[in-house]
Amino acid sequence: MNFRDSEALKAVLEADGHTLVDNESEADLVLLNTCSVRDCAEAKAIGKARRLLQNKRTNLRYRLGIIGCMAARRGQQLTKLLPQLDWVLPPTSLNDIPHIIQETLRTNTPKVITNFQSYNFACYEQPLPFTPVRWIPIQQGCSMGCSYCIVPHTRGHQQNRPFDSILREIQTAADQGTREIILLGQIVNAYRDNGKTFVDLLHAIQAIDGIERIRFISPHPTFFTDQLIQCFKTLPKCCPSVHLPIQSASNRILQHMHRGYTQETLTALIQALRTIQPQLSLSTDLIVGYPGETDADFEQTVQFFKKIQFDMAYIFKYSPRPNTPAAELVAVHGIPKDVQEKRNQVLLDCLSQSSLRYNQQFVHTYQSVLVEGHAPKGAHKLFGRTIVNKKVIFDGDPSLIGSFQSVWIERATTSVLEGCIKPV
Ligand code: SAH
Ligand code: SF4
Repeated sequence: MNFRDSEALKAVLEADGHTLVDNESEADLVLLNTCSVRDCAEAKAIGKARRLLQNKRTNLRYRLGIIGCMAARRGQQLTKLLPQLDWVLPPTSLNDIPHIIQETLRTNTPKVITNFQSYNFACYEQPLPFTPVRWIPIQQGCSMGCSYCIVPHTRGHQQNRPFDSILREIQTAADQGTREIILLGQIVNAYRDNGKTFVDLLHAIQAIDGIERIRFISPHPTFFTDQLIQCFKTLPKCCPSVHLPIQSASNRILQHMHRGYTQETLTALIQALRTIQPQLSLSTDLIVGYPGETDADFEQTVQFFKKIQFDMAYIFKYSPRPNTPAAELVAVHGIPKDVQEKRNQVLLDCLSQSSLRYNQQFVHTYQSVLVEGHAPKGAHKLFGRTIVNKKVIFDGDPSLIGSFQSVWIERATTSVLEGCIKPV
């Protein structure tokens, strides 16, 4: 979401006459888009802001702002910590930022916005440069109130983007040559607008010519209705890859987290998805060391992970977030750092086995790959993704970016497939 917000912000700033520079050191004006989900992300952003503010000593035109979740959460407090900041702006105000910048430059007065307005989704309709894959925000905020999570405090309650605005953005992207879209939201499958549901949205996107692949992130297990499961059969563009954050597989911990499902309902959901789409790729988010998580609770998560064989997972060590119910338990029930570390490693080991096993099934097969861009390492190397969202690296000409290619897979690691373009 932050990545897409930065894209939108770049577009609204360029439309207002600002010039983007390739290198941070060339900029007179820097906006740091921040995350608050874990404490380490906030600490990193504060450290970076402190370093960047040194530029004010040598460049009198230098201005620095903090935007996004940390700005919403810490507001005025940030200006006490970093008194030279020019802007502290919550994620709701992307559209207003060009105007706010102009005002500050004119009056030389820093601007801190702490009150939460409603989202203006119009910034996402600002034209973006062509990309083969486009991230489409369909929702902001969240009203779920999971016990450990800061998002409802930083992004406010769930607000849904108007149905027509989403379809307009996707149509424009399709006209530019975009082939894959990824719908974005904190509880993306709880999307609703004027009686239209998430499933209605998937059906409407299926009808847009040019779009070949639809994915979405992150769905909540509770809102995975039968109609949504059916979409993996009835809508050919709906890719058989699901990111299903489960957080834990201990019913005791899940109940405490207010997640609203159990290990049993998760098993039934995953079975239903795999029955309808046997080639389904399944990834997840997990938290280790939640306050009060016993060895037995953790073992349930490990056993569940092994049973399901997730092919990808983001594993997080629990990080206490201010004003959340879970953080209040830490003093008495907090899990020591070394135990968190060990549990993290156990799950990472399970993950490397399951992801390697999953990826190896593609060796010596052809895969249809949407070519996305230059691979980070190696001249002439391109990268793209398969229908089940596996990253593939191969040699190729940059003119292929944006097209589908048939790639013969030669090798697999835990995180990527490597191959070569070869006619079938
Ligand atoms: N809305 C999504 C996830 C949003 S946050 C969902 O409900 O699944 C992304 C991930 O960060 C979460 O899935 C969770 O695994 C992790 N996370 C959130 N709060 C955390 C915390 N306090 N400590 C550690 N990890 C956390
Ligand atoms: Fe946070 Fe996701 Fe729970 Fe919402 S559903 S409170 S974003 S973890």
